[in-house]
Amino acid sequence: MPKPFSGPPSFLFVLKRMLTLVLLITSTGCSSEVSLNGGGQRFASQADSGARYVFLFIGDGMGLAQVELGRALLAPGDSLSFPSFPVTGMISTSAADRYITDSAAAGTALATGYATSVGTVSMAANHRDTLKTIVEMAEGDGRRTGVVSSVGIDNATPACFYAHEPLRGSLYAIALQMASSGVDYFGGGRPEGNFPHKRSRAVVDRGDIDSLMQLSGYSVVKNSASLRAVMPGTPCIASGPSDMFGALPFDMDRPARDADLALFTREGIRLLDNSKGFFMMVEGGKIDWACHANDAAAAGRDVAAFDRAIREAVAFYHRHPEETLIVVTADHECGGLSLGNRDGAYDSRLELLHYQTISMEKLSGKVAAWKKAGGVSFLAALDSVRVFAGLGAGADSELLLSRDEERELRDAFRATMSAGAARGGQYGAADSFSPAVVGILNRRAGVGWTSNVHTAVPVPVFALGHNAHMFAGFYPNTALARRLMQASGLPGSLR
Ligand SMILES: [Zn+2]
Repeated sequence: MPKPFSGPPSFLFVLKRMLTLVLLITSTGCSSEVSLNGGGQRFASQADSGARYVFLFIGDGMGLAQVELGRALLAPGDSLSFPSFPVTGMISTSAADRYITDSAAAGTALATGYATSVGTVSMAANHRDTLKTIVEMAEGDGRRTGVVSSVGIDNATPACFYAHEPLRGSLYAIALQMASSGVDYFGGGRPEGNFPHKRSRAVVDRGDIDSLMQLSGYSVVKNSASLRAVMPGTPCIASGPSDMFGALPFDMDRPARDADLALFTREGIRLLDNSKGFFMMVEGGKIDWACHANDAAAAGRDVAAFDRAIREAVAFYHRHPEETLIVVTADHECGGLSLGNRDGAYDSRLELLHYQTISMEKLSGKVAAWKKAGGVSFLAALDSVRVFAGLGAGADSELLLSRDEERELRDAFRATMSAGAARGGQYGAADSFSPAVVGILNRRAGVGWTSNVHTAVPVPVFALGHNAHMFAGFYPNTALARRLMQASGLPGSLR
């Protein structure tokens, strides 16, 4: 069982590498592990050596409605890749202590095969026992490993694959564990816990995470050109331009030249590819953030960005079809998204979402700037509403504002401009004006939201490649992890 970070990372890293080597030499291909809850069902014969190259894609907050929304917002004739995978399944997502889960409990289930309490990162609900992750099993089997996310690389979902921490909010403590994790490739967002305002609140301060990663032998790269220059076999942490939470921008706000999730996935495949195999987890983390904000346009566009990352794995699958397994799923649904609502009844017009040109979060940033500058009139604000969301005269006759809607916007505008200093929120707006704008557009498009947080609606599973058949059916998220270990032929999965 792995222990949380407890020593100089460089030493632990070397030790782990040596252990991996010893295991490689002495391995009988099978080891036993004590089960905490009675074990799980086995689905493949022992004779099956399992998939050598394994991808787990997690669309954070991506329920079936989010998938369909992503498809509906594509250009005519385009389609998503993963919904047409040959095997589909469904998982339930509840945590050990709450019907509606969070990303930590759900990530733990997907990474270890065990249910735990909300907020817990790959530890048992008692916060004492660490739970072995599939990444650690793959390392023990001599495979390379990668953890990729469009949000902070120390946030709950990615953290559950390499760290063990009682509280998901202990970001710096989680980030510290990266250097000793043995993970060969971290890609996407930055460690949020390393930002000075977060580090100042940490219990321990061992210094700058980037420096610690370098001391442990990692290449630390922060642009695409440097990432492309990293040689396979070199441990690497790669990040792109990120926000104050370490996350990449919503895909609809991303400048075209900036790295996206697909680039971090593609480069990860290049770095991890080797004859012993690899395991790679890729999270589309901002689908969840868009759904917390009830911003359908941003959610749909991030599903498409997630699909571009999946396509990189599919291209790899076509080069190694007998040895590759790709599983796409979600940790939970978010927002209670529905395609259809009370206002529109049978008349949905999802295409109206194309009039929204920036995320609600970015619109909220503009509103904050108006407030700071002062002197912005409601009429000027309405001009922006036309530009950024298509609402009002001009864009589309479907988007003319009713008298009630204009009053709703005016009230929200006044409330925002007269309120105290706005506080930035991780999941969207720090004002009431931008949610009102995006809310009206969502209603007109026929989109329904029932919540600003997660729901317990089961989420879909899509599988392609070697042992994909094992992912059919309707089962708990913990069983998905166990099937994945089995399908990958990882010794640690035998229970
Ligand atoms: Zn989540």
